[in-house]
Amino acid sequence: DNPSPSKPPWIRVRAPSGGGYAATRRVIEEHGLSTVCQEAGCPNVGECWAQGHATMMVMGEICTRGCSFCNVATGRPDALDPFEPVKVADAVAKLGLAHVVITSVDRDDLADGGAGHIAQTIRAVRRKRPETTIEVLTPDFLRCPDSALEAVIEAAPDVFNHNLETVPGLYTAIRPGARYYHSIRLLERAKELSGVVFTKSGIMVGLGERREEVLQVMDDLRCAGVDFLTIGQYLQPTRKHAAVDRYVTPEEFASLEEAAYAKGFLMVSASPLTRSSYHAGDDFARLRAA
Ligand code: SF4
Ligand code: SF4
Repeated sequence: DNPSPSKPPWIRVRAPSGGGYAATRRVIEEHGLSTVCQEAGCPNVGECWAQGHATMMVMGEICTRGCSFCNVATGRPDALDPFEPVKVADAVAKLGLAHVVITSVDRDDLADGGAGHIAQTIRAVRRKRPETTIEVLTPDFLRCPDSALEAVIEAAPDVFNHNLETVPGLYTAIRPGARYYHSIRLLERAKELSGVVFTKSGIMVGLGERREEVLQVMDDLRCAGVDFLTIGQYLQPTRKHAAVDRYVTPEEFASLEEAAYAKGFLMVSASPLTRSSYHAGDDFARLRAA
């Protein structure tokens, strides 16, 4: 049992309701898809789904990792659904998404970490809805051959996103199955493999990290050529998960956002309820129009 401090007034979450929310839910259910919005218990689900924005989670609802901040179940995953790429593409078309974020659980049980399945999903969406921009938020492909990341980049997503989640000093406690410099290198390689893909990463704050550590992460990401950055408040899914160390104030988020822009990121979102996929489409559209 890990008690967290009580939530401050700036963490306000609107309860999911309304016609837009119900319509999005219907499309997701009809296609038998999973979303990270539901699996992670995202606080923005009411707002995002009211606008038809859902982040698809492919390759099942069971993850081979057990990060201490994450609400997704850990265990032995099911076999891949070969029809899932087409189901995702159909749902994207039905929702009429201008931008889709596709993420997944980690699949350390698969030789390619699921890279081929992610690539197929990108291709299926591209075929069905060429006008939709595609962002993939991928696992780290730790212990996979180089060809795993290559397969994803060859499928030509518009944005390659991989979250660092926290500062390196907290990896053992928070993201034990991962390696910080491996994740940095993955982002760097994505950029080396494609001259046109935008790369993106994100971290949570409020887990016990110091400001200097966050600034160092920004520098590491910029050295790897990463374009976009998201920073949001960690919220404890249940009392079995890592406790919140503190609630970072909106002013501190604003200051982190300013620091990140000063370091050269093209797009930064830093606020208490920022999540990796929060307003991802709006931000991307704005950037492309600029
Ligand atoms: Fe889903 Fe992302 Fe919106 Fe959360 S922020 S509800 S995960 S689309
Ligand atoms: Fe959750 Fe991703 Fe960690 Fe799996 S790898 S437990 S889905 S954060």
